Amino acid sequence: MSRIHTRDVLCRKTILTAAEAGCPCCDAVLETANHLFFGCPFAVQFWRSIGVSPNEAVVGSLHRLDVSPAVGDASPASFVLLCCWRLWKRRNAVVFREDPQSLVATLKACRDEAVLWRARLKVADRSHIDVWLSVLRNRGEIV
Ligand SMILES: [Zn+2]
Repeated sequence: MSRIHTRDVLCRKTILTAAEAGCPCCDAVLETANHLFFGCPFAVQFWRSIGVSPNEAVVGSLHRLDVSPAVGDASPASFVLLCCWRLWKRRNAVVFREDPQSLVATLKACRDEAVLWRARLKVADRSHIDVWLSVLRNRGEIV
């Protein structure tokens, strides 16, 4: 099942109580991985801002999330991982630093991270990062 240490997992491991298992970013009574990445209002706003509909998405089927409206065939699976990584980092900023990063700040963090990831892609795919940056920049400035 879910391996990421969202609050539902911490509750199952009796590290947190049921009363502490709510989403740190909204009023949801249970923070699950699916909620964090696709159901939390911030996550929904994030995905929509880059032209992706997360409606049917679940963590167990990340490979099925269609981000082609945003990035076409520019390494879409890696783009999904980048977005989820930054949503996780944003959640941790809320939990550990009480820093509710704005959407614009989260999109900028995605751009910064994408630049770092460029060197990890095959040389032939490195131009895909430029597509990602365009998506993340243009949408962020609209919001
Ligand atoms: Zn939430």
